[in-house]
Amino acid sequence: MSQVEAVKMPASVYTAIVQHAREGKPEEICGIVRGRGLVAGSAIRGRNIAGERIENYEVDPETLLLQFTFEEQGDEMMGIYHSHPVSVAWPSATDAWNAHYPESIYFICSLEFDDAPVIRAFRMTPHWIDLDIVQLRRELPFTEVRPHLFAYYHAPGAAAPALLHPITAHVPAPFYIDFFTDDHGDEVDSRIVSLVEHTLQVDWPDTAPAHP
Ligand SMILES: [Zn+2]
Repeated sequence: MSQVEAVKMPASVYTAIVQHAREGKPEEICGIVRGRGLVAGSAIRGRNIAGERIENYEVDPETLLLQFTFEEQGDEMMGIYHSHPVSVAWPSATDAWNAHYPESIYFICSLEFDDAPVIRAFRMTPHWIDLDIVQLRRELPFTEVRPHLFAYYHAPGAAAPALLHPITAHVPAPFYIDFFTDDHGDEVDSRIVSLVEHTLQVDWPDTAPAHP
């Protein structure tokens, strides 16, 4: 695997996201991260406007619009965060489907273990490749992850059937193949989204005792 640059985050931002996640549990919480490039500066709480907030999130548009005021001041929305109240800090198929900001880092805060919160950082990149979903459905184990949304997850090193070779030649694993169906069960939209994890470097304050 090629070297992936680390994302840097002040301890204050890390603890603010964990605190928000704890206050929101059992629902998922979400917000945005102001910063520059791969350096986080501050976390801004958003409202989760998803219909089903126990296992999904959608940042409210007012919060997303704040990114334009950051840009006027030379910053950007470098990240979007949300919590997984009871599951690991790994993007779900739904997270991949809803990742509309390929330039942003997606931070996921897991409270799977209440006394050991974990935040991990990902980039999620959609790939626009024509897919024969009818054929893919026949040969790959797709799961309906929520009504009308079907997903197949391809892990790094997983065996790829021949029909996946045109995809694996261009898209690095891990990736999701997601598709959405209408009421007749026919595919209406599909997408491949690859995941790259960035190491998260948190600058915890030095707690070592001072020299006497
Ligand atoms: Zn999620």
